[in-house]
Amino acid sequence: MRRLIAILLLLSAGIAPVFADLDVPPRTFVFMYVHHPEDDDAWVAAQVDPPHPFNEAGAAEGWPGYMEALGAAVPDINYRAYDQAPLSHNWGWTQDQRITAEILNDYRPKVTAQLQSWRDLGINEYCRYVCAVKLALTPENRSGMYTLYDNWDEFRGIMPLLGEKPAEEPWDWIQLRGGKKYLGSYWGVDAFGNQVYAGCVNDPAWRTYHRALANYCAMEGYTGIFVDNPGNSCTCPDCQREWQRYLRERYTPDDLRAYFGVNDYAECVLEDAKWAFDTRRFRAESVGAFLGAIKDGGEQARGEGNFFLCANGTWSVFKPTDVGLGLVPWAENGQDITFMEKRYHYVGNWQMPILPGVSWNSMDEQVTDHKMVHALDAVTWPGVRPDSISRPHHQKQYELAFCQALALDGVFIDGADINVMRRNPARERLFGWLRTHRDWTRTGESIADVALFVQYDDLYLDYSQVADSVREFETARRALQSRGVLHDYVISANCTPERLARYDTIILPSPRIITDEQAALLRAYADAGGRLIVTGPSGDMTGAGTLREAPLFGAEMAGEFTQSYFKPALSMMYGGKYKGPLYDVLAATESDPLALERFGCINAPGVVISARRTAGDEMLVNLINYNVDFTIEDDGRAYRIASEGQVHTQRDVEVICPVPDGTHAVSAEWIAPGDESGQALEVAPMDGGVRFTLPEVQMLSIVRLALANGAAEGPPMAEARAALTAGESTLPVYAMEEVALAPVEGPMAEAPASATPLVLRYSHHFGAIIEPGQTATVTAKVVPWLGEGKQALLWAAAPVTGRLLDPAATGADGTPASLTLTDPGMTAVGVDAGGECFTIEADGAALLIPAHNG
Ligand SMILES: [Zn+2]
Repeated sequence: MRRLIAILLLLSAGIAPVFADLDVPPRTFVFMYVHHPEDDDAWVAAQVDPPHPFNEAGAAEGWPGYMEALGAAVPDINYRAYDQAPLSHNWGWTQDQRITAEILNDYRPKVTAQLQSWRDLGINEYCRYVCAVKLALTPENRSGMYTLYDNWDEFRGIMPLLGEKPAEEPWDWIQLRGGKKYLGSYWGVDAFGNQVYAGCVNDPAWRTYHRALANYCAMEGYTGIFVDNPGNSCTCPDCQREWQRYLRERYTPDDLRAYFGVNDYAECVLEDAKWAFDTRRFRAESVGAFLGAIKDGGEQARGEGNFFLCANGTWSVFKPTDVGLGLVPWAENGQDITFMEKRYHYVGNWQMPILPGVSWNSMDEQVTDHKMVHALDAVTWPGVRPDSISRPHHQKQYELAFCQALALDGVFIDGADINVMRRNPARERLFGWLRTHRDWTRTGESIADVALFVQYDDLYLDYSQVADSVREFETARRALQSRGVLHDYVISANCTPERLARYDTIILPSPRIITDEQAALLRAYADAGGRLIVTGPSGDMTGAGTLREAPLFGAEMAGEFTQSYFKPALSMMYGGKYKGPLYDVLAATESDPLALERFGCINAPGVVISARRTAGDEMLVNLINYNVDFTIEDDGRAYRIASEGQVHTQRDVEVICPVPDGTHAVSAEWIAPGDESGQALEVAPMDGGVRFTLPEVQMLSIVRLALANGAAEGPPMAEARAALTAGESTLPVYAMEEVALAPVEGPMAEAPASATPLVLRYSHHFGAIIEPGQTATVTAKVVPWLGEGKQALLWAAAPVTGRLLDPAATGADGTPASLTLTDPGMTAVGVDAGGECFTIEADGAALLIPAHNG
């Protein structure tokens, strides 16, 4: 019924609805900064300069070139950046010079014509820009956002979800931090003197406004919204109220006493260090609820399930989060496509230097991003699709990211620079191939029989607390990948008994948090015959982030088989101070030789396998080959791809892959992007699986298997898999040596000291190098002009042992925090300052600054 009403509304607005077929997931998403010739018309009508005369240089070839590039490689989803009126944060400058409802009514046909021109190319999904926080105004002039507020009823005519004018004025929609209205830290003042502040996601009026705006965009014909800058660190009355609601929903009064020793919810003041863990989770949930309102606004115009949401900064990696970001809470509120703005020159994540000439390789693939999102779909949030945000400048890098998205049932995000796009010959070839070969990339349910458990709540812990979890997770997933193990992730928020039961084996990579409910689920899984592998002490924290007396699983393993449990900080800093791969841990449980080899599915190092059932009688197996040469250069701030070399095609790749229970494979064909049609491939059915040999895997080979009912006769798959070895090589690291992170020894004298103090934002980790016999003092201070009253935590870990020293907090009155370091060697130092700026300086030590550690 809701959908019918939505259709009627749209028809009455004179716009034909276009319903997406969300059963066919989008695979390509073009994201680009380009200016339409009519973009300025609404600003001109309002007698002001366009607020974003931005990207003019980048769009020099203009609209025709952009349309040509789109037409040559038609995406499933199109998004162009944000010069179109209204911008969510710029409605007017003064009461005389503002975007009126009349201007928007005149402007709307130009928007719909533009969407039609995309539709004519075959693009049916397009999204509009919304900024989650920017709010420009000057209350005394009633300018900026007041031009919307003061003319509320005028806009209700075209934005029905605005509803009754709220009593609270825009001045009260702004985030409060440290008792002050929070300025968007770098957005400044517009040409009319309106200061740009940050709106609060928990403010009802700010939320209503965004819901109404999304609804308006949907009525214009947009099929989705891209949300930029989502985040929140506010302490306004609305946030306090929501915080209290959050606490009451999560903790009974008995819980409060048991976990925190507190008798009254009112004692739990938002932002207090004691509630740091819950504060982070609350922030992410608050932003999620705000995103949910935007989604709802769009769906009210286009029908439920028919308006997609994509928010920048989706946290689909397993590293500590920035404030307000989250994968799980955003998905719970209906986010469809994850998005993480990354840099142009990197495959996956960027690299970080440790010492001059030495780096930890974190520039790998985006397998984790894709798998994290897939761990959310199918059961709880069927609409979620992974992405692969890439703006690659190098052709092979581009191809690799594209093939990766296809292989891992994800979305490839392309664009940002039209000139780079148009110069890339891989683009048209791959987009064109995909358009005509959708059958080979269909979505489906993974048939992996091994899963890695992901405790998402660990990411809300303090950086130093979560260090071991991050390291152990990374160790485990690399071990699985490097041994050709077909595996999924099971995410904590979604680990129902049904989901766990899909897997023969679940690996618990020493998460710190395990709730009582999760522990019961995992025990029931093991009792029912599931194989639960614990790599080290797991669950030493409750679901409230408080310490238990002992870990729930693997307590006896502490210090014996595990690497650096409870020695967190150093391993956090640059990826891990571990002594060996997961294999060591597994082999140590001698009574049950759980060598990883028995799970292996392929014999080719550097190749990752995925497999999914796409129909009752069909499954697709994907093999993606990461053996591509890239040379890396240090650009002074980070490492990036300087040039690319060969693709090392893997030949005679042997595959032994499980098939869905109660089926067997009867035939197969294989294809690679660029091939017109598939070639037949011989298959050997086995008990529980299938064996075949692929003649070659260049970047991607896809095998389509026909299935029939009934298990196959033949040798047991498990034995055959144990005999298959992928070799010892890990995934390639693109010409960089992967550094085993043993304690760092010299040459310390050569390390350049950075100029201090530095002003940095958010949270960063550093290396301080202490010479033998010297003492150093590291001092951190919150920058006073941004976050008065805001505190930061300074921590450090002893060299060699990685043992965390007692941390120091800056004072609420702005006094700095200092730590004295005496042990020689490289000490990991970190500052956690929430979203605030801080300075750090080191007296008596060389301070190494990572390029980016967000
Ligand atoms: Zn607030």
